[in-house]
Amino acid sequence: MVGEVKYGYCPICGAAGKSRERRPDGNDVCANGHTYSSRSSIPFNPKETKEERAIGLCRELILYCYTWHDLRPSEARQKLLSIFDNETITKAFDDISSKQEVSDG
Ligand SMILES: [Zn+2]
Repeated sequence: MVGEVKYGYCPICGAAGKSRERRPDGNDVCANGHTYSSRSSIPFNPKETKEERAIGLCRELILYCYTWHDLRPSEARQKLLSIFDNETITKAFDDISSKQEVSDG
């Protein structure tokens, strides 16, 4: 699933982090085998465009609205209109409904 990355992304090649050492100042290893400090891992996918990141963030916020505020999809959309443009919100809703996480209405 998009956005299901536990350890961020490799600062060398941009691949998802595969493992993380459980100690302070530990290292991560990416899917391509690079080792780097956990602190230098990139929290967002560096291969995504700014628009894709906005959609991903919007998507998280919609799910957050449903889960924690018990809002209907149309109410969540209204709230998010102060942050995102309509197109971004629509794409985020499309992304969610394509994965059957919630239905718009
Ligand atoms: Zn790498």
